[in-house]
Amino acid sequence: MVVNIRERIIPITEIEQSAFCQSDEELRSKPLAEEFQAGVQWQKLPVSYMKMSPDELDARIAEARAALGQKLVILGHHYQRNEIIKYADLRGDSFKLSQYAASQDEAEHIVFCGVHFMAETADILSTPNQSVTLPNLTAGCSMADMAKIDDVLDCWDDLQDVLGNDEIIPITYMNSTASIKALCGRNGGIVCTSSNAPATFEWALAQDKRVLFLPDQHLGRNTGLKMGIGLEDMLVWSPFKPLGGHTEHALRQAKLLLWEGHCSVHTRFTVAQIVLARKQYPDVNVVVHPECVMEVVEAADYDGSTEYIIRAVTDSPAGSVWAIGTEISLVNRLAAENPDKTVFCLDAVVCPCSTMYRIHPAYLSWVLDGLNEGVIVNRIEVDEPTAEHARIALDRMLSVV
Ligand code: SF4
Repeated sequence: MVVNIRERIIPITEIEQSAFCQSDEELRSKPLAEEFQAGVQWQKLPVSYMKMSPDELDARIAEARAALGQKLVILGHHYQRNEIIKYADLRGDSFKLSQYAASQDEAEHIVFCGVHFMAETADILSTPNQSVTLPNLTAGCSMADMAKIDDVLDCWDDLQDVLGNDEIIPITYMNSTASIKALCGRNGGIVCTSSNAPATFEWALAQDKRVLFLPDQHLGRNTGLKMGIGLEDMLVWSPFKPLGGHTEHALRQAKLLLWEGHCSVHTRFTVAQIVLARKQYPDVNVVVHPECVMEVVEAADYDGSTEYIIRAVTDSPAGSVWAIGTEISLVNRLAAENPDKTVFCLDAVVCPCSTMYRIHPAYLSWVLDGLNEGVIVNRIEVDEPTAEHARIALDRMLSVV
């Protein structure tokens, strides 16, 4: 067995997460040259786009999009800015958007306004003659960046050594790189979303196997608890410590191993915020995403995926009050689209997902202009062996849920 001790490396996307946090509630786009001052990594693009005002960009995007007609599909994740989401042919969570992309075989170009792993999944599920574009290549995901394939391969080898072959099933959340999904596909594992995670656990546990859950420890822990696995049967695997920080004996006892990853956006929510919301609005409904920490999920009234949260608020009676623990662009949109209800974010600090926020209209304009000129800017392509195995893990998910 190889003993690895690694220096703890925090992904740049995690370090930069708070760059766009602000205390006023407006998240209106500014010219990109001004937003560059946030001090995060941005992809370089022609300087003319950086100087354009939001109104100029708006007109330019509308024109470019009209010229591309049916050849183009624009997908917008719920966490995108309003100035981007208005151009989306479909809004959704990552899997809904990728499935939609796969169904649009008459479209030559798919522009995915989301983050990198989502564009990868769309490429895996789309046809070879469709291009998938991510407008800004620095739009990663801090959670996906916490599970590097080399670290996960080391973990997997260690677990085979300690537990024996075929004793553990890898389950990866959709929010992971294509190479992690492929590792799951190659090793009898499966992909899950935040809505079908319990069904994939049930499938794995029915085979009398242990589970390695990647990359979000919180979704894994919250799901494990729902499935009746006690905290005493769960361990967090640190990629920076030998054997993840555990003894061989402890690993053999555990039922659920949780990769030490998290979402920088959803771990901002706290029980104190819920207590305050209940004090201010005694009849409040608190709904949070299962990427929040266990204590927050337990203190909330409901927890569920982005689509679940949208349905809960939209289908609720007029006059109801909702405190929400998920990304602020979506919460603000829900508040605007449900004026007969009181809808607010649990966190008073306006703090968007800083990588989603990097899809500035200037980038969308740039890639659409490129497509009109016959140039595919920022194409995302997953190599075929990786795509083939990732597809196996995705197909398994569809056969289970
Ligand atoms: S909200 Fe969290 S999980 Fe989603 S893209 Fe942003 S960092 Fe990643």
